[in-house]
Amino acid sequence: MAKSPEEEHPQKAFGWAARDSSGILSPFRFSRRCRENADDDVTIKVLFCGVCHSDLHSAKNEWGFTNFPVVPGHEIVGVVTHTGNNVEKFKVGDRVGVGVIVGSCMKCDTCQEDLENYCPQVIYTYNSHHHDHDRTKTYGGYSDMIVVHHRYVLRFPDNLPPDAGAPLLCAGITAYSPMKYYGMTEPGKHLGVAGLGGLGHITVKIGKAFGLKVTVISSSPAKEDEAIKTLGADSFLLLSDPAKLKEAMGSMDYIIDTVSAVHALAPLIGLLKLNGKLVTVGLPDKPLELPIFPLVLGRKLVGGSDIGGMKETQEMLDFCAKHNITSDIELIRMDYINTAMERLAKSDVSFLHVLLFQALVWGSHVPTQGFVSLPFNRSYYHIQKPYDVPENQRYSFINGVHKCWVYSTDKPHTTTSQTLPRTEIAIQGYGYSSGVWEFEADGYVPYGTSGVCIMQVFGATAPHATTLMLRVYNGSLTYYRETVLVPDIYDKWFKLNVIHDVDAAKVKVYIDGRLKLEADGRGGTSHAFKCGVYAQYNDSCYMESRWKHIKVLRKCGH
Ligand SMILES: [Zn+2]
Ligand SMILES: [Zn+2]
Repeated sequence: MAKSPEEEHPQKAFGWAARDSSGILSPFRFSRRCRENADDDVTIKVLFCGVCHSDLHSAKNEWGFTNFPVVPGHEIVGVVTHTGNNVEKFKVGDRVGVGVIVGSCMKCDTCQEDLENYCPQVIYTYNSHHHDHDRTKTYGGYSDMIVVHHRYVLRFPDNLPPDAGAPLLCAGITAYSPMKYYGMTEPGKHLGVAGLGGLGHITVKIGKAFGLKVTVISSSPAKEDEAIKTLGADSFLLLSDPAKLKEAMGSMDYIIDTVSAVHALAPLIGLLKLNGKLVTVGLPDKPLELPIFPLVLGRKLVGGSDIGGMKETQEMLDFCAKHNITSDIELIRMDYINTAMERLAKSDVSFLHVLLFQALVWGSHVPTQGFVSLPFNRSYYHIQKPYDVPENQRYSFINGVHKCWVYSTDKPHTTTSQTLPRTEIAIQGYGYSSGVWEFEADGYVPYGTSGVCIMQVFGATAPHATTLMLRVYNGSLTYYRETVLVPDIYDKWFKLNVIHDVDAAKVKVYIDGRLKLEADGRGGTSHAFKCGVYAQYNDSCYMESRWKHIKVLRKCGH
């Protein structure tokens, strides 16, 4: 009798799977194969995984070859937890990536030429099978771990963010490979990018990094701002504007067509110069009409391309790291995946309504995971404010928003204190001396507030008084006076998580879910969190910060 996916193999895994063409994902226990050639395998703990359009198509069986249950995900970034005996390239603790493929025959001419992606026996990261006797199914990155032959594992560069870098493993190589193969990288040449979806936006960034002049070709006037202001394209061509289109005819050296809906190729071919090249990377589900006359008369070329081989994918990651190319992402939690998929489906890229969808990435390690939120109300904090003014002249709490303000000419918070003025929410209900504690809140600092501490972890070994200070100087959020954590903090809400591991003497600061700082603790035996405004050097005459959703959390098991 066939074994269940959970019983099949010794390596247990947990992920989210679609069971039928509804495409709804739900928790799924399964097992990963430890292969016979496990000596060549790398075991990876998954940190982030991009959500790609292919995931959606597969989950809903829109291409007709999904073998349920399917665990999607082929933009995987993780950390190596185990390596087989033959693995020399990676060691435990290395940050690595896994893209669209996890295997190929390794013997054919195509594989010998490092074009594993075109091998007739290519094995995709999910919804595919290993070729040897047990034909184990492959499951993707919407899971806690994955085991992959080292040939298909990529070094993930240190300076590439593991979340915003993840979509490069699919979209990045899809754009990069044809530009290299078809010779579309000569600086100063003119590249058109048709379609401004997730793939289009990475193509624009890579084109700019090669030194090309980049024009976004779209049917939606609303995309112009995005293309030029956000992505840095040189120009924008609205296809539905006949005058502009006519003007642009014969002006482009290359075009990458990322549109996956059925659309006309004739206008794109017309935009090309003599010897121009048009490469399609979108996959419309019906054939497109190809006009031959303009190709012949202009010696133009139309080609296609599908992701890239492992060597080139590594080259692409290194290139993106060097040029700071990342994807614009929205970080989501795994349990939000079904809503995320729905949103992705609605913003489906079509030639008439080209939408920039943000690539979606889920993180298995959100800063509050493993912590419990403790009760929090007015009895857990008090307001420290200049001793000679009433509280309501320096602090308000309206519609859930705490507002703290202070003037540089104000008095300290006690008659005996020598410190500069402050208005701070001091959380005295949760003083601590051991364990792992976390402060979470949404913060806001209005324009002009400067030379001020807005959040602190009180307590340290003398001469220090604090374990952590987050300050604002001229619009930057900084760690004390040194490290800039966010260069432009004014006039926007940001989510702040501060984790203080007292026993390990470490603090971590997350802004909007991203780790921005890891610093040493500074000793001390009695700690508490505070937020507000506390004047430091070069303080502005008026200082203000606002806070909402303040939480104090404590790590379970402490
Ligand atoms: Zn993909
Ligand atoms: Zn092969």
